[in-house]
Amino acid sequence: MAGPCRLTCRVFAISRDAIRIRGYHFQGGGGCSEYPGMAHEIAGYGKTFKSNVRKYYPAMISLGGFGEVLPRRDDRVTIDPDVKDAWGIPVLRFDYTFRDNEMKMAKDMADTVEEMLTAAGAESIKIVKEPLPPGWSIHEIGTARMGDDPRTSVTDRFCRLHDVPNVYLADASPFVSGGTQNTTWSILAMCWRTMDYLKEQMRTANA
Ligand SMILES: Cc1cc2nc3c(=O)[nH]c(=O)nc-3n(C[C@H](O)[C@H](O)[C@H](O)COP(=O)(O)OP(=O)(O)OC[C@H]3O[C@@H](n4cnc5c(N)ncnc54)[C@H](O)[C@@H]3O)c2cc1C
Repeated sequence: MAGPCRLTCRVFAISRDAIRIRGYHFQGGGGCSEYPGMAHEIAGYGKTFKSNVRKYYPAMISLGGFGEVLPRRDDRVTIDPDVKDAWGIPVLRFDYTFRDNEMKMAKDMADTVEEMLTAAGAESIKIVKEPLPPGWSIHEIGTARMGDDPRTSVTDRFCRLHDVPNVYLADASPFVSGGTQNTTWSILAMCWRTMDYLKEQMRTANA
């Protein structure tokens, strides 16, 4: 990831001793693709700016930290009773905030990436310590979470609706946590598992 030794870093979040539970990872970009978007990260104005662009092009990289947000009862998505979209369909309302664990994790991200880049010999490191707004990573999941208890979950452990036994959800809605990873491979893995289960149910005439 480090590659060239002139680096600029942005961390989309906020020390190791502070982290509590769960984990995080970094996603990065680098090279020419960082321009011109990250040019504003380069110091200077006029000639100094041009000179710095020449100096750093195309050796910039950016790193973004993605951490797992703990599932909590108070964090939820509901159908908004008042607001409708342009087609008259009620929009979703998100009740969701970062709390102690997420803030500590974010701080650990920032400290860790700074340590890595410094060890790699980066010349110009900029850390953005404030987390981006909740939902920024656009991995919304869990609107019909799975569980054994129909009173607190929508599907069973195989993504089958508790209330309608011949309906299975093969998407991100049964997830009970987003983990830290991008969602698609996990969705595919869960879908595969669901289909295996369904096939077995059909074979044994339970579905
Ligand atoms: C900009 C962006 C970039 C992303 N990048 C990545 C990435 O790089 N890697 C990664 O792993 N993930 C990425 N994600 C996340 C990933 O795309 C989603 O987590 C994933 O698509 C969720 O899949 P899903 O099937 O649960 O929901 P969706 O893909 O949202 O599918 C829901 C479907 O239901 C349909 N629908 C909704 N309401 C109704 C209705 N009333 N009647 C009929 N149909 C309806 C919608 O039209 C849609 O087709 C990204 C997401 C976004 C928005």
